[in-house]
Amino acid sequence: MALYHADALVIRSREYGESDRLLTLFARESGKLHAVAKGVRKPTSRQRAGAQLFTYADFLLHKGRTLDTVTQSSPKESFPHLWNDLDRTLAATAIAELLDVATVREEPQPQLFTLALTCFFLLAEVNPFLVQSIFSLRLLGILGYSPRLGECAECGAVIKGDKALFSPTAGGTVCSECRGLFNGKPLSLGTVAFMRQLEHTEWQKVKRLRWSAWMEQEMREALQQYCEEKFEKSLRSWRMGKEIGGESSNNQREG
Ligand SMILES: [Zn+2]
Repeated sequence: MALYHADALVIRSREYGESDRLLTLFARESGKLHAVAKGVRKPTSRQRAGAQLFTYADFLLHKGRTLDTVTQSSPKESFPHLWNDLDRTLAATAIAELLDVATVREEPQPQLFTLALTCFFLLAEVNPFLVQSIFSLRLLGILGYSPRLGECAECGAVIKGDKALFSPTAGGTVCSECRGLFNGKPLSLGTVAFMRQLEHTEWQKVKRLRWSAWMEQEMREALQQYCEEKFEKSLRSWRMGKEIGGESSNNQREG
């Protein structure tokens, strides 16, 4: 029998057949995998916990010809904080969706695994929007897609003034000379500087970051459009988060 272990996060969990779930796992060693968890929708199943979205577990899988099957799962962390607050649930969903969209099957990406795991833990104590933004900027960096920020993506000139054009097609901020060539939206240089900070700030210092409502709005749109352009897919949970999550996250923001 071809059995193998995967130390993995559940990044997608869909109903499948009568009582099964089709899981998308993101494994530390091997990257994205698809596997069927059989019978887990039956109330008596002992494997239910390991088939829940966001769970971090050690999976024992059986290699199938077309689809692998979960033989056993031992949950290490179920992240209850991701389920008891709508903003956190939305941010974790957005992180999981972007990780899925940005990667291909069975390509090892251990840095992305660690980043996602860290962000799920961080969501217990850091503003959800901030965690989602950090995740997306760092994922882009790991995959070699970082947006140019503060310099013109077309000609390289340092951007002056208060605002730049942010153009996903150009690959980041665009100077006033080049802006006629691209579509995009204005992005203030304050937000640009904040995004650069998020790319590099140490985890321990993330909690101390401060930003304002308009920066959040600008950054949310810029990142969504940029990721959708780069990965050529619509990010459904990101659009949903904008509609539902906007209100309550105001409480935690300062500045
Ligand atoms: Zn330029």
